[in-house]
Amino acid sequence: MGKGTSASGGRAGGGGGVNPDNIHNPQEMISIRNASNQQQVDDVLQVSRELTDKYGADVATGGFEVATFSGKDSTTLGCYMPGGGITMNKKYIDNQNMDSVMDDCAEKGFHPSRGNKSGIYAVAAHEYGHSLTENVRGKMGEKSFDKAAEKIVTEARKKTGDKGNIKFGRKISEYATASNAETVAEAVCDVMCNGKKAKKQSRAIVDVIDGYLLPKK
Ligand SMILES: [Zn+2]
Repeated sequence: MGKGTSASGGRAGGGGGVNPDNIHNPQEMISIRNASNQQQVDDVLQVSRELTDKYGADVATGGFEVATFSGKDSTTLGCYMPGGGITMNKKYIDNQNMDSVMDDCAEKGFHPSRGNKSGIYAVAAHEYGHSLTENVRGKMGEKSFDKAAEKIVTEARKKTGDKGNIKFGRKISEYATASNAETVAEAVCDVMCNGKKAKKQSRAIVDVIDGYLLPKK
């Protein structure tokens, strides 16, 4: 997930775009919890817990960390490196203002609404969307992360009848049009935040993910 400071900045796609040299002092999420950020830390761990309950312990086996982001990446909300796990920007975990940051983005159509969840919960849900893509990639036996994301979006698009993956993404959010990987992540964020009120395109993406990751009924 990309920029927290302006709706025009992009989120890093599946880790792409973030320079690993700009990520410093990674720590376990729980280890930074203190009196002033405990609600924020609890909210992001809640995302982790909900998805582990649903999909099992294989979700985000790459880890869930928080780090200091510097340079051009200092305003990146968080990133996901396929195989390397989720890293969130400590600055935003410590920011008490994330609800209004995300509301501003949602108002402009840049990100889905956070529903009744907190802003930082929405950020974590987006990053976990990338992580779930990696799980699906493994189930598909697909080598490329981006190719796996493309297959997920194409499969979901056939269910909703939208023409073209970018048109499909645009129904979810502006940022969902950045790449197939971002379409999947934004859809997961939408469904985790809005449940049945999420866009049908988002729900179709999660249905495809569930088809790969949940035991067949
Ligand atoms: Zn992303």
